[in-house]
Amino acid sequence: MTTVSNHLPTAELQALDAAHHMHPFTTNDELKERGARVITSGKGIYLRDSEGNEILDAMAGLWCVNLGYGREELVNVAARQMMELPFYNTFFNTTHTPVIALAAELAKLAPEGLNHVFFAGSGSEANDTNLRMVRVYWAEKGHPQKSHIISRLNGYHGSTVGSGSLGGMTYMHEQGGLPIPGIHHIGQPDWYAEGGDHTPEEFGLARAQELEAKILELGAENVAAFIAEPVQGAGGVIVPPNTYWPEIQRICDKYNVLIIADEVICGFGRTGNWFGSTTMGIKPHIMTIAKGLSSGYVPIGGSIVCDEIAEVINAIEFNHGYTYSGHPVCAAVALENLRIMQDDNILDHVNNVAAPAFKAVLDQLGEHPLVGGVNVSGMMASLPLTPHKASRAKFAMAKGTAGFMCRERCFANNLVMRHVGDRMIISPPLVITPDEIDVFHKRAKLALDDTYKALK
Ligand code: PLP
Repeated sequence: MTTVSNHLPTAELQALDAAHHMHPFTTNDELKERGARVITSGKGIYLRDSEGNEILDAMAGLWCVNLGYGREELVNVAARQMMELPFYNTFFNTTHTPVIALAAELAKLAPEGLNHVFFAGSGSEANDTNLRMVRVYWAEKGHPQKSHIISRLNGYHGSTVGSGSLGGMTYMHEQGGLPIPGIHHIGQPDWYAEGGDHTPEEFGLARAQELEAKILELGAENVAAFIAEPVQGAGGVIVPPNTYWPEIQRICDKYNVLIIADEVICGFGRTGNWFGSTTMGIKPHIMTIAKGLSSGYVPIGGSIVCDEIAEVINAIEFNHGYTYSGHPVCAAVALENLRIMQDDNILDHVNNVAAPAFKAVLDQLGEHPLVGGVNVSGMMASLPLTPHKASRAKFAMAKGTAGFMCRERCFANNLVMRHVGDRMIISPPLVITPDEIDVFHKRAKLALDDTYKALK
Protein backbone atom coordinates (compact mmCIF):
# COMPACT_ATOMS: atom_id res chain seq x y z
CA MET A 1 0.00 0.00 0.00
CA THR A 2 1.43 3.42 -0.98
CA THR A 3 1.51 5.71 2.04
CA VAL A 4 1.77 9.43 1.36
CA SER A 5 1.45 12.05 4.06
CA ASN A 6 1.88 15.79 4.36
CA HIS A 7 4.98 15.11 6.46
CA LEU A 8 7.01 13.84 3.53
CA PRO A 9 9.51 16.31 2.02
CA THR A 10 7.95 18.46 -0.70
CA ALA A 11 10.38 17.25 -3.37
CA GLU A 12 9.41 13.63 -2.69
CA LEU A 13 5.70 14.42 -2.96
CA GLN A 14 6.29 16.36 -6.16
CA ALA A 15 8.32 13.56 -7.74
CA LEU A 16 5.65 10.97 -6.95
CA ASP A 17 2.95 13.32 -8.20
CA ALA A 18 4.75 14.01 -11.48
CA ALA A 19 5.40 10.29 -11.97
CA HIS A 20 1.78 9.12 -11.73
CA HIS A 21 -0.73 11.93 -11.54
CA MET A 22 -2.04 13.41 -14.80
CA HIS A 23 -3.15 16.99 -14.08
CA PRO A 24 -5.93 18.84 -15.88
CA PHE A 25 -4.95 21.86 -18.00
CA THR A 26 -1.27 21.52 -17.05
CA THR A 27 1.92 21.47 -19.05
CA ASN A 28 3.82 18.44 -17.92
CA ASP A 29 7.24 19.94 -18.63
CA GLU A 30 6.38 22.60 -16.08
CA LEU A 31 5.32 19.93 -13.59
CA LYS A 32 8.52 17.97 -14.06
CA GLU A 33 10.78 21.01 -13.89
CA ARG A 34 9.29 22.74 -10.88
CA GLY A 35 6.90 20.25 -9.35
CA ALA A 36 3.34 21.01 -8.33
CA ARG A 37 2.64 23.22 -5.37
CA VAL A 38 1.47 20.86 -2.62
CA ILE A 39 -1.49 22.26 -0.71
CA THR A 40 -1.87 20.66 2.69
CA SER A 41 -4.76 22.42 4.44
CA GLY A 42 -7.10 25.38 4.40
CA LYS A 43 -8.83 27.59 6.94
CA GLY A 44 -11.13 30.48 6.08
CA ILE A 45 -9.69 32.21 3.02
CA TYR A 46 -6.16 30.89 3.58
CA LEU A 47 -4.40 27.80 2.24
CA ARG A 48 -1.26 26.25 3.68
CA ASP A 49 1.32 24.51 1.48
CA SER A 50 3.91 21.85 2.23
CA GLU A 51 6.56 24.54 2.78
CA GLY A 52 4.48 26.13 5.53
CA ASN A 53 3.41 29.18 3.48
CA GLU A 54 0.06 30.71 4.30
CA ILE A 55 -1.51 31.73 1.02
CA LEU A 56 -4.51 34.00 0.53
CA ASP A 57 -6.76 32.17 -1.90
CA ALA A 58 -8.28 34.94 -4.00
CA MET A 59 -9.73 32.31 -6.38
CA ALA A 60 -11.81 30.36 -3.83
CA GLY A 61 -10.18 27.18 -5.14
CA LEU A 62 -11.64 27.13 -8.63
CA TRP A 63 -14.34 29.78 -8.05
CA CYS A 64 -16.14 27.48 -5.66
CA VAL A 65 -15.12 27.58 -1.99
CA ASN A 66 -17.58 30.38 -1.32
CA LEU A 67 -17.90 29.73 2.42
CA GLY A 68 -14.14 29.37 2.84
CA TYR A 69 -12.18 26.36 4.06
CA GLY A 70 -12.73 24.38 7.23
CA ARG A 71 -16.49 24.76 7.79
CA GLU A 72 -17.16 22.03 10.32
CA GLU A 73 -20.93 22.08 9.73
CA LEU A 74 -20.36 20.82 6.18
CA VAL A 75 -17.96 18.13 7.37
CA ASN A 76 -20.35 16.94 10.08
CA VAL A 77 -23.30 16.74 7.72
CA ALA A 78 -21.22 14.67 5.29
CA ALA A 79 -20.15 12.28 8.05
CA ARG A 80 -23.71 11.88 9.36
CA GLN A 81 -25.07 11.26 5.88
CA MET A 82 -22.34 8.73 5.14
CA MET A 83 -23.29 6.78 8.23
CA GLU A 84 -27.00 6.89 7.46
CA LEU A 85 -27.01 6.34 3.70
CA PRO A 86 -23.69 6.78 1.86
CA PHE A 87 -25.15 6.03 -1.53
CA TYR A 88 -28.34 5.29 -3.24
CA ASN A 89 -29.31 6.13 -6.78
CA THR A 90 -32.21 8.19 -8.05
CA PHE A 91 -32.88 5.98 -11.10
CA PHE A 92 -35.86 3.68 -11.55
CA ASN A 93 -38.37 5.43 -9.32
CA THR A 94 -36.31 5.73 -6.14
CA THR A 95 -35.38 8.77 -4.10
CA HIS A 96 -34.08 9.79 -0.67
CA THR A 97 -34.56 12.69 1.71
CA PRO A 98 -31.36 14.71 0.99
CA VAL A 99 -32.18 14.96 -2.71
CA ILE A 100 -35.85 15.70 -2.07
CA ALA A 101 -34.91 18.53 0.27
CA LEU A 102 -32.19 19.96 -1.97
CA ALA A 103 -34.39 20.03 -5.08
CA ALA A 104 -37.16 21.76 -3.12
CA GLU A 105 -34.72 24.32 -1.67
CA LEU A 106 -33.27 25.10 -5.09
CA ALA A 107 -36.76 25.57 -6.50
CA LYS A 108 -37.39 28.06 -3.68
CA LEU A 109 -34.20 30.04 -4.38
CA ALA A 110 -34.36 29.98 -8.20
CA PRO A 111 -36.14 32.65 -10.24
CA GLU A 112 -39.89 32.22 -10.70
CA GLY A 113 -40.94 29.34 -12.92
CA LEU A 114 -37.72 27.33 -12.46
CA ASN A 115 -38.97 24.61 -10.14
CA HIS A 116 -37.33 21.35 -11.21
CA VAL A 117 -33.80 20.03 -10.82
CA PHE A 118 -31.91 17.33 -12.73
CA PHE A 119 -28.76 16.51 -10.78
CA ALA A 120 -25.28 15.75 -12.08
CA GLY A 121 -21.82 15.34 -10.62
CA SER A 122 -20.31 18.49 -12.13
CA GLY A 123 -20.95 21.53 -14.27
CA SER A 124 -19.71 19.73 -17.39
CA GLU A 125 -22.13 16.87 -16.86
CA ALA A 126 -24.98 19.28 -16.21
CA ASN A 127 -24.31 21.04 -19.50
CA ASP A 128 -24.26 17.67 -21.28
CA THR A 129 -27.67 17.09 -19.72
CA ASN A 130 -28.84 20.48 -21.02
CA LEU A 131 -27.62 19.72 -24.51
CA ARG A 132 -29.71 16.57 -24.66
CA MET A 133 -32.64 17.96 -22.71
CA VAL A 134 -33.33 20.92 -25.00
CA ARG A 135 -33.10 18.70 -28.07
CA VAL A 136 -35.43 16.13 -26.57
CA TYR A 137 -37.80 18.92 -25.50
CA TRP A 138 -38.12 20.31 -29.02
CA ALA A 139 -38.39 16.84 -30.55
CA GLU A 140 -41.23 15.99 -28.16
CA LYS A 141 -42.92 19.27 -29.10
CA GLY A 142 -42.88 18.10 -32.73
CA HIS A 143 -39.80 20.07 -33.85
CA PRO A 144 -36.97 17.51 -34.02
CA GLN A 145 -34.99 19.73 -36.39
CA LYS A 146 -34.88 22.49 -33.78
CA SER A 147 -31.63 21.10 -32.43
CA HIS A 148 -28.83 23.58 -33.08
CA ILE A 149 -27.31 25.38 -30.16
CA ILE A 150 -25.59 28.74 -30.24
CA SER A 151 -22.86 29.61 -27.83
CA ARG A 152 -20.02 32.11 -27.66
CA LEU A 153 -16.33 32.12 -28.44
CA ASN A 154 -14.30 32.16 -25.24
CA GLY A 155 -17.28 31.00 -23.22
CA TYR A 156 -16.60 28.06 -20.90
CA HIS A 157 -19.11 25.31 -20.22
CA GLY A 158 -16.91 22.38 -19.18
CA SER A 159 -14.57 19.87 -20.73
CA THR A 160 -16.54 16.77 -21.64
CA VAL A 161 -17.12 16.27 -25.37
CA GLY A 162 -20.54 17.92 -25.18
CA SER A 163 -19.76 20.74 -22.78
CA GLY A 164 -16.35 21.39 -24.37
CA SER A 165 -18.17 21.77 -27.68
CA LEU A 166 -20.67 24.16 -26.14
CA GLY A 167 -17.76 26.17 -24.82
CA GLY A 168 -15.93 28.45 -27.19
CA MET A 169 -12.35 27.82 -26.15
CA THR A 170 -10.58 27.31 -29.46
CA TYR A 171 -7.53 25.80 -27.77
CA MET A 172 -9.84 23.07 -26.47
CA HIS A 173 -11.49 22.59 -29.85
CA GLU A 174 -8.06 21.93 -31.34
CA GLN A 175 -7.82 18.70 -29.35
CA GLY A 176 -10.07 15.69 -29.80
CA GLY A 177 -12.25 16.77 -32.69
CA LEU A 178 -14.45 19.39 -31.04
CA PRO A 179 -16.93 20.92 -31.46
CA ILE A 180 -19.45 18.20 -32.28
CA PRO A 181 -21.90 19.06 -35.08
CA GLY A 182 -24.87 21.32 -34.38
CA ILE A 183 -23.08 23.80 -32.13
CA HIS A 184 -22.24 27.30 -33.35
CA HIS A 185 -20.28 30.12 -31.78
CA ILE A 186 -20.72 33.87 -32.01
CA GLY A 187 -18.47 36.64 -30.68
CA GLN A 188 -18.20 37.48 -27.01
CA PRO A 189 -19.12 40.82 -25.41
CA ASP A 190 -15.54 41.58 -24.41
CA TRP A 191 -15.42 45.34 -24.89
CA TYR A 192 -11.99 45.72 -23.26
CA ALA A 193 -10.23 43.39 -25.72
CA GLU A 194 -12.39 43.62 -28.81
CA GLY A 195 -14.46 46.81 -28.55
CA GLY A 196 -11.98 49.03 -30.44
CA ASP A 197 -13.28 52.60 -30.70
CA HIS A 198 -16.90 51.67 -30.02
CA THR A 199 -18.53 52.66 -26.76
CA PRO A 200 -19.24 49.67 -24.51
CA GLU A 201 -22.96 50.18 -25.17
CA GLU A 202 -22.58 50.12 -28.96
CA PHE A 203 -20.31 47.12 -28.78
CA GLY A 204 -22.62 45.20 -26.42
CA LEU A 205 -25.51 45.73 -28.80
CA ALA A 206 -23.49 44.72 -31.84
CA ARG A 207 -22.30 41.51 -30.18
CA ALA A 208 -25.84 40.62 -29.11
CA GLN A 209 -27.04 41.19 -32.66
CA GLU A 210 -24.60 38.54 -33.86
CA LEU A 211 -27.01 36.13 -32.23
CA GLU A 212 -29.87 37.35 -34.40
CA ALA A 213 -27.70 37.07 -37.51
CA LYS A 214 -26.71 33.50 -36.58
CA ILE A 215 -30.33 32.50 -35.88
CA LEU A 216 -31.40 33.88 -39.26
CA GLU A 217 -28.48 32.11 -40.98
CA LEU A 218 -29.43 28.75 -39.43
CA GLY A 219 -33.19 29.36 -39.58
CA ALA A 220 -35.05 29.99 -36.32
CA GLU A 221 -36.92 26.70 -36.82
CA ASN A 222 -33.56 24.91 -36.41
CA VAL A 223 -32.25 26.67 -33.31
CA ALA A 224 -33.00 25.05 -29.96
CA ALA A 225 -31.14 27.21 -27.49
CA PHE A 226 -28.57 29.85 -26.70
CA ILE A 227 -26.18 29.07 -23.86
CA ALA A 228 -24.04 31.62 -22.04
CA GLU A 229 -22.61 32.56 -18.68
CA PRO A 230 -24.28 35.69 -17.28
CA VAL A 231 -20.73 36.95 -16.65
CA GLN A 232 -18.00 34.96 -18.43
CA GLY A 233 -15.67 33.53 -15.82
CA ALA A 234 -12.96 31.28 -17.21
CA GLY A 235 -12.76 33.46 -20.33
CA GLY A 236 -11.32 36.20 -18.12
CA VAL A 237 -14.20 37.65 -16.04
CA ILE A 238 -15.88 39.54 -18.83
CA VAL A 239 -18.72 41.68 -17.53
CA PRO A 240 -20.89 42.43 -20.56
CA PRO A 241 -21.89 46.00 -21.40
CA ASN A 242 -25.35 46.78 -20.03
CA THR A 243 -26.92 46.77 -23.50
CA TYR A 244 -25.95 43.14 -24.11
CA TRP A 245 -28.32 40.93 -22.14
CA PRO A 246 -31.53 42.92 -22.80
CA GLU A 247 -30.89 42.56 -26.53
CA ILE A 248 -30.09 38.83 -26.20
CA GLN A 249 -33.33 38.37 -24.27
CA ARG A 250 -35.31 40.24 -26.93
CA ILE A 251 -33.81 38.10 -29.70
CA CYS A 252 -34.38 34.77 -27.91
CA ASP A 253 -37.98 35.75 -27.13
CA LYS A 254 -38.59 36.81 -30.74
CA TYR A 255 -37.29 33.58 -32.30
CA ASN A 256 -38.48 31.16 -29.63
CA VAL A 257 -34.95 30.15 -28.70
CA LEU A 258 -34.44 28.76 -25.20
CA ILE A 259 -31.92 30.42 -22.90
CA ILE A 260 -29.55 28.28 -20.88
CA ALA A 261 -27.81 30.45 -18.29
CA ASP A 262 -24.64 28.74 -17.14
CA GLU A 263 -24.55 29.75 -13.49
CA VAL A 264 -21.72 27.42 -12.50
CA ILE A 265 -19.59 30.38 -11.39
CA CYS A 266 -22.19 33.16 -11.13
CA GLY A 267 -24.66 31.16 -9.05
CA PHE A 268 -24.97 31.22 -5.28
CA GLY A 269 -24.06 34.79 -4.51
CA ARG A 270 -20.98 35.42 -6.64
CA THR A 271 -22.51 38.46 -8.36
CA GLY A 272 -24.48 39.64 -5.32
CA ASN A 273 -27.73 37.77 -6.06
CA TRP A 274 -28.51 34.10 -5.74
CA PHE A 275 -28.05 33.87 -9.50
CA GLY A 276 -26.19 35.93 -12.09
CA SER A 277 -29.36 35.81 -14.21
CA THR A 278 -31.02 38.09 -11.67
CA THR A 279 -28.04 40.45 -11.68
CA MET A 280 -28.07 40.61 -15.48
CA GLY A 281 -31.86 40.64 -15.89
CA ILE A 282 -32.00 37.34 -17.81
CA LYS A 283 -35.06 35.07 -17.88
CA PRO A 284 -33.51 31.65 -18.45
CA HIS A 285 -35.34 28.41 -19.21
CA ILE A 286 -32.55 26.32 -17.69
CA MET A 287 -29.75 27.26 -15.29
CA THR A 288 -26.60 25.16 -14.95
CA ILE A 289 -25.32 24.95 -11.38
CA ALA A 290 -22.28 23.41 -9.64
CA LYS A 291 -19.27 24.81 -7.72
CA GLY A 292 -20.82 27.21 -5.14
CA LEU A 293 -23.78 24.86 -4.71
CA SER A 294 -21.65 22.91 -2.23
CA SER A 295 -18.91 25.52 -1.78
CA GLY A 296 -16.79 22.90 -3.56
CA TYR A 297 -16.75 20.58 -0.53
CA VAL A 298 -18.25 17.73 -2.55
CA PRO A 299 -18.76 17.34 -6.30
CA ILE A 300 -22.30 18.15 -7.34
CA GLY A 301 -23.91 19.93 -10.27
CA GLY A 302 -27.30 20.16 -11.87
CA SER A 303 -29.76 21.84 -14.14
CA ILE A 304 -32.60 23.92 -12.74
CA VAL A 305 -35.35 23.57 -15.31
CA CYS A 306 -38.46 25.65 -16.03
CA ASP A 307 -41.95 24.21 -15.60
CA GLU A 308 -42.67 24.02 -19.32
CA ILE A 309 -39.59 21.96 -20.19
CA ALA A 310 -39.90 19.78 -17.08
CA GLU A 311 -43.51 18.97 -17.95
CA VAL A 312 -42.46 17.68 -21.38
CA ILE A 313 -39.38 15.79 -20.13
CA ASN A 314 -41.22 14.29 -17.17
CA ALA A 315 -43.94 12.98 -19.48
CA ILE A 316 -41.48 10.61 -21.19
CA GLU A 317 -38.63 8.40 -20.09
CA PHE A 318 -35.59 10.68 -20.52
CA ASN A 319 -32.86 8.12 -21.10
CA HIS A 320 -30.22 10.05 -19.28
CA GLY A 321 -28.62 10.18 -15.83
CA TYR A 322 -25.46 9.65 -13.86
CA THR A 323 -24.67 7.17 -11.09
CA TYR A 324 -24.07 10.17 -8.86
CA SER A 325 -27.15 12.21 -9.91
CA GLY A 326 -28.41 13.47 -6.56
CA HIS A 327 -25.78 11.59 -4.53
CA PRO A 328 -27.10 11.65 -0.93
CA VAL A 329 -23.86 12.86 0.69
CA CYS A 330 -23.39 15.60 -1.91
CA ALA A 331 -27.04 16.62 -1.67
CA ALA A 332 -26.88 16.80 2.14
CA VAL A 333 -23.72 18.92 2.05
CA ALA A 334 -25.16 21.23 -0.62
CA LEU A 335 -28.32 21.68 1.43
CA GLU A 336 -26.26 22.54 4.52
CA ASN A 337 -24.22 24.97 2.42
CA LEU A 338 -27.45 26.71 1.36
CA ARG A 339 -28.66 26.75 4.97
CA ILE A 340 -25.45 28.43 6.14
CA MET A 341 -25.62 30.94 3.31
CA GLN A 342 -29.10 31.92 4.43
CA ASP A 343 -28.58 31.77 8.21
CA ASP A 344 -25.31 33.72 7.97
CA ASN A 345 -26.83 36.24 5.52
CA ILE A 346 -24.00 35.75 3.06
CA LEU A 347 -25.75 37.77 0.35
CA ASP A 348 -26.08 40.74 2.72
CA HIS A 349 -22.41 40.37 3.61
CA VAL A 350 -21.50 40.36 -0.09
CA ASN A 351 -23.66 43.34 -1.00
CA ASN A 352 -23.09 45.54 2.03
CA VAL A 353 -19.62 44.63 3.21
CA ALA A 354 -17.41 42.52 0.95
CA ALA A 355 -18.30 43.77 -2.56
CA PRO A 356 -17.99 47.51 -1.71
CA ALA A 357 -14.58 46.91 -0.04
CA PHE A 358 -13.49 44.70 -2.94
CA LYS A 359 -14.56 47.30 -5.51
CA ALA A 360 -12.70 50.08 -3.68
CA VAL A 361 -9.50 48.01 -3.67
CA LEU A 362 -9.90 47.04 -7.32
CA ASP A 363 -10.37 50.68 -8.27
CA GLN A 364 -7.07 51.47 -6.54
CA LEU A 365 -5.33 48.56 -8.27
CA GLY A 366 -6.87 49.84 -11.51
CA GLU A 367 -4.69 52.97 -11.10
CA HIS A 368 -1.56 50.84 -11.34
CA PRO A 369 0.41 51.63 -14.53
CA LEU A 370 0.30 47.97 -15.55
CA VAL A 371 -3.48 47.66 -15.25
CA GLY A 372 -5.67 48.66 -18.17
CA GLY A 373 -9.06 48.62 -16.46
CA VAL A 374 -11.29 46.94 -13.92
CA ASN A 375 -14.05 44.45 -14.70
CA VAL A 376 -16.11 43.56 -11.68
CA SER A 377 -19.48 42.10 -10.81
CA GLY A 378 -20.01 41.46 -7.10
CA MET A 379 -17.17 39.20 -5.99
CA MET A 380 -15.71 38.29 -9.38
CA ALA A 381 -13.29 40.56 -11.16
CA SER A 382 -10.47 40.85 -13.64
CA LEU A 383 -7.60 43.28 -14.05
CA PRO A 384 -6.30 43.24 -17.63
CA LEU A 385 -2.58 43.99 -17.86
CA THR A 386 -1.34 46.34 -20.57
CA PRO A 387 1.85 48.10 -21.64
CA HIS A 388 -0.24 51.22 -22.42
CA LYS A 389 -3.22 52.10 -20.31
CA ALA A 390 -4.88 54.70 -22.54
CA SER A 391 -5.07 52.51 -25.64
CA ARG A 392 -5.67 49.16 -23.85
CA ALA A 393 -2.75 47.90 -25.97
CA LYS A 394 -1.64 44.27 -25.96
CA PHE A 395 1.93 43.27 -25.11
CA ALA A 396 4.35 42.65 -27.97
CA MET A 397 5.49 39.36 -26.39
CA ALA A 398 3.45 36.15 -26.60
CA LYS A 399 -0.05 36.42 -25.16
CA GLY A 400 -0.18 35.35 -21.54
CA THR A 401 3.49 35.99 -20.76
CA ALA A 402 2.81 39.07 -18.63
CA GLY A 403 -0.16 37.37 -16.96
CA PHE A 404 1.96 34.33 -16.17
CA MET A 405 4.73 36.53 -14.76
CA CYS A 406 2.24 38.28 -12.53
CA ARG A 407 0.71 34.99 -11.38
CA GLU A 408 4.17 33.76 -10.38
CA ARG A 409 4.79 36.96 -8.44
CA CYS A 410 1.43 36.54 -6.72
CA PHE A 411 2.56 33.08 -5.58
CA ALA A 412 5.86 34.55 -4.39
CA ASN A 413 3.80 37.01 -2.31
CA ASN A 414 1.54 34.24 -0.95
CA LEU A 415 -1.46 35.13 -3.04
CA VAL A 416 -3.45 32.99 -5.47
CA MET A 417 -4.63 35.16 -8.34
CA ARG A 418 -5.05 33.31 -11.63
CA HIS A 419 -4.30 34.63 -15.09
CA VAL A 420 -6.26 34.12 -18.28
CA GLY A 421 -3.93 35.36 -20.99
CA ASP A 422 -2.84 38.74 -19.72
CA ARG A 423 -5.82 39.26 -17.43
CA MET A 424 -5.51 38.68 -13.72
CA ILE A 425 -8.70 37.16 -12.38
CA ILE A 426 -10.04 37.25 -8.85
CA SER A 427 -12.90 35.40 -7.20
CA PRO A 428 -12.31 35.14 -3.44
CA PRO A 429 -14.47 33.25 -0.96
CA LEU A 430 -17.66 35.25 -0.40
CA VAL A 431 -17.02 35.32 3.35
CA ILE A 432 -13.87 37.44 2.93
CA THR A 433 -13.75 40.36 5.39
CA PRO A 434 -12.61 43.95 4.73
CA ASP A 435 -9.38 43.29 6.69
CA GLU A 436 -8.66 40.28 4.51
CA ILE A 437 -9.43 42.35 1.42
CA ASP A 438 -6.72 44.76 2.65
CA VAL A 439 -4.26 41.86 2.82
CA PHE A 440 -5.30 40.91 -0.73
CA HIS A 441 -4.70 44.51 -1.79
CA LYS A 442 -1.18 44.66 -0.35
CA ARG A 443 -0.11 41.34 -1.86
CA ALA A 444 -1.68 42.07 -5.26
CA LYS A 445 0.00 45.49 -5.35
CA LEU A 446 3.39 43.91 -4.57
CA ALA A 447 2.89 41.35 -7.33
CA LEU A 448 1.91 44.05 -9.83
CA ASP A 449 4.89 46.21 -8.82
CA ASP A 450 7.29 43.27 -9.18
CA THR A 451 5.82 42.37 -12.58
CA TYR A 452 6.00 45.98 -13.74
CA LYS A 453 9.68 46.20 -12.77
CA ALA A 454 10.47 42.89 -14.47
CA LEU A 455 8.77 44.01 -17.69
CA LYS A 456 10.65 47.32 -17.90
N1 PLP B 1 -19.62 26.09 -16.67
C1 PLP B 1 -18.89 27.10 -16.21
C2 PLP B 1 -19.39 28.49 -16.38
C3 PLP B 1 -17.68 26.87 -15.55
O1 PLP B 1 -16.94 27.89 -15.12
C4 PLP B 1 -17.27 25.53 -15.38
C5 PLP B 1 -16.00 25.24 -14.69
O2 PLP B 1 -15.20 26.09 -14.44
C6 PLP B 1 -18.07 24.51 -15.90
C7 PLP B 1 -19.25 24.81 -16.52
C8 PLP B 1 -17.64 23.09 -15.77
O3 PLP B 1 -17.84 22.67 -14.49
P1 PLP B 1 -17.03 21.37 -13.95
O4 PLP B 1 -15.59 21.74 -13.94
O5 PLP B 1 -17.63 21.16 -12.58
O6 PLP B 1 -17.34 20.26 -14.85
